[in-house]
Formats: sequence, C-alpha cells, structure tokens
Amino acid sequence: MNHLKKTFGKNEVLKDINEAVYDGQVICLIGPSGAGKSTFLRCLNLLDKPTAGQVFFEGDELTALDDQHLDQLRQQMGMVFQSFNLFPHKSVLDNLKLAPMKVKDMPEEQATQLAQKLLSQVGLAEKAEAFPDNLSGGQQQRVAIARALAMNPKVMLFDEPTSALDPEMVGEVLKVMQDLATDGMTMVVVTHEMGFAKNVADQIWFMADGYIQETNSPQEFFAHPQTQRAQEFLAKIL
Ligand code: ATP
Ligand code: MG
Repeated sequence: MNHLKKTFGKNEVLKDINEAVYDGQVICLIGPSGAGKSTFLRCLNLLDKPTAGQVFFEGDELTALDDQHLDQLRQQMGMVFQSFNLFPHKSVLDNLKLAPMKVKDMPEEQATQLAQKLLSQVGLAEKAEAFPDNLSGGQQQRVAIARALAMNPKVMLFDEPTSALDPEMVGEVLKVMQDLATDGMTMVVVTHEMGFAKNVADQIWFMADGYIQETNSPQEFFAHPQTQRAQEFLAKIL
C-alpha cells in the first residue's frame, strides 16, 4: 500500500498507510474499536474504494484496474468475516462448490473432490450434506474458511473471524487458521485474540487514529510496545 487513504465524508478513517505484506507472512492487525481495521482490510481488496493512494497485489496496481480485471485478482484474495455468510439453502458441500464451478468453470466432479478435501482439512468431512443452520457457529466459520480456500487464494483476509463465536468454539477456528499459517498461507488477520497474535503472527500491526502506529514482532510488541497509544491499548486488554 502506498499512501493509502480512506475518508467517509469528513471522517478520515485511514490517513496514510504505507505497509507491505510479503509472501507467506502472517500479519495480525490489532487496535481499538473504530480504528479503521475493517476499513483497511476492505481497502486491500477494494471492497471499499480508497479515497487516495495505491494498493498493489503482486505486480498489479489494484487501484488502477477496471472492474473486470479487479474481479479476476480479487478471486485470489479470500475473505472471512465475523458473520459467516454461508448460503443457507445450500448444503455445506454446495456452498464450497459454487464459486469454483461458477467463477472458474470447474467441472462438478472436480469441484466435489476439492470441496471434500477442504472439508477434511477443516475437520468437517462428515458435514458435507448438512445445511448451515444445523451447524454450530464454529463449524459454520470453518466452512466459511474452506469456502474461501476453494478459490485457491494467494492471500486470506480475516476480519475478527472468532468474535461472534461462543468461547468454546473459538479454539477450533483458530486451530484451522494456525494450520493454514503453518502451511505457508499469506494472511492478514484482524483479531482480538492476543494468544493467537502472539503465537502465530510474524508481525503485529497496531492501528489507531488512522495510522499503523507500530509494526513489530509479537515478542517485541507485547513485551515492549513503543508508542503510548499501544501501551494504553495493551494495558486495557491484557
Ligand atoms: P471494530 O474493532 O469495532 O470492528 P474497526 O477498527 O474495524 O472497529 P471500522 O469499522 O473500520 O473500525 O470503522 C472505522 C471508522 O469508519 C468508524 O468511525 C466508522 O464509523 C467509519 N465507517 C466504516 N465504514 C463506514 C461506511 N461504510 N460509511 C461511513 N462510515 C464508515
Ligand atoms: Mg471491524
């Protein structure tokens, strides 16, 4: 990102963001409510259109592309939200098969195999024929992750993927994310799960007041936060 800015009316949410995510990195983005974390994540794949500045993905400047080319590159960026957004009238398997078949013209048999493989990966092989409403929140979120993975993304963006879950289901979702990280997936994760951030992130980005105030290794960030803003934030949550 190069001088990325986003304003809503007079509200300057992202003021000047200049950061890079490298292949295979896991970034945990943390910061107070309203800091602009979700807005930032949505600007990365242009779900929100930046007011100024540039976003690059590999060699391409996303902010300069027409909609058709943007859609093609977006397919390579998976996104998982706090709310799972599964299609309620489709089985788990069909939820996973839909995008590969529709968007990538994948033959059904291959899409089924892919879906089954991904369901195994998130520990839900036996739920292929279930409907989303009959799954727990943690199971639904694991399906949502598998569905994003079905497009074979190069990067996964997570916006508080465990915030809507009952506490006992948080661990199973974080485990799937940790496995993904171990497999080398590039990830940007907005989270309040500081244990996950400490253990899994390569870098912590601390966002407040429209800026990324600090980027550091988790060890350094949690032991020696540099800015007063981060010190205050950590004092409140730890
Ligand atoms: P939280 O931790 O509560 O999820 P956040 O860091 O993700 O907060 P954002 O949701 O990015 O924060 O919101 C940042 C600011 O941008 C807030 O002041 C919010 O009101 C504003 N904002 C976000 N989306 C819009 C929108 N579509 N229209 C107008 N204002 C918006
Ligand atoms: Mg948010």
